[in-house]
Amino acid sequence: MEESRRNFMLQCTKRVTLSVGGLALLDSADLLAAQLQRYHVVRKNENLTLIARRYGVTVNNLKLWNGLSSDVIMPGQKLYLRAQYSALPLKTINRPRISTTKWKNIIAHHSATDNGNAKIFDAAHRRRGMDNGLAYHFVICNGTNGCADGKVEVGSRWLRQIKGGHVKSETYNANSIGICVVGNFEKKWVSRKQEASLIALIDYLKNNTLKGRPKFLVHREIKKEQTICPGKNFPVKAMHKLFG
Ligand SMILES: [Zn+2]
Repeated sequence: MEESRRNFMLQCTKRVTLSVGGLALLDSADLLAAQLQRYHVVRKNENLTLIARRYGVTVNNLKLWNGLSSDVIMPGQKLYLRAQYSALPLKTINRPRISTTKWKNIIAHHSATDNGNAKIFDAAHRRRGMDNGLAYHFVICNGTNGCADGKVEVGSRWLRQIKGGHVKSETYNANSIGICVVGNFEKKWVSRKQEASLIALIDYLKNNTLKGRPKFLVHREIKKEQTICPGKNFPVKAMHKLFG
């Protein structure tokens, strides 16, 4: 009697791992342990769907947390299992009292120049008669003019929570956050580091700071702007897949 009760107890505490179609489903204790893990190293024959299911997260979140615009992953690649934001200057971004209802859109641009940084664009925009200087709220550098590839610079318009000057439409300028990715993407491609920073920045602003409210757009998607900005090589489709 005593022994059978002990066997029953043992059976109850034993972990049961189910397998469906070759995919191991984890019980809740394993799932918790997996989620406590900070990253996963991709093994041969694994894809994002498989890894997402294993850790109980979505493919979209895996892509956001790892700055991936496509579903392509390589064996040996480290995938973070939660948001990182380590590439972002969070203290500076969070310095102002952020107006959460004001910002309805996040608009991406290219600089249409081979190089530059926030200071250089600020001077150029002042020369063009913009009293508030740098027309964008953020600039993502490409490794030129002493600004590291993928570095996010925060403009004074963000720090002051004032309208941008990055589009023709005054309605959009008043309610849209402008992000400029340095480069001419008619001729060149967004660097991996710029892309990762851009995804992290939009994810942070849209999903964290502004609770999912703002819409993601690129400049040429706004009616009557008559522009090719941010260039034909900008990953517009992939970004919409991530941000709607
Ligand atoms: Zn533009």
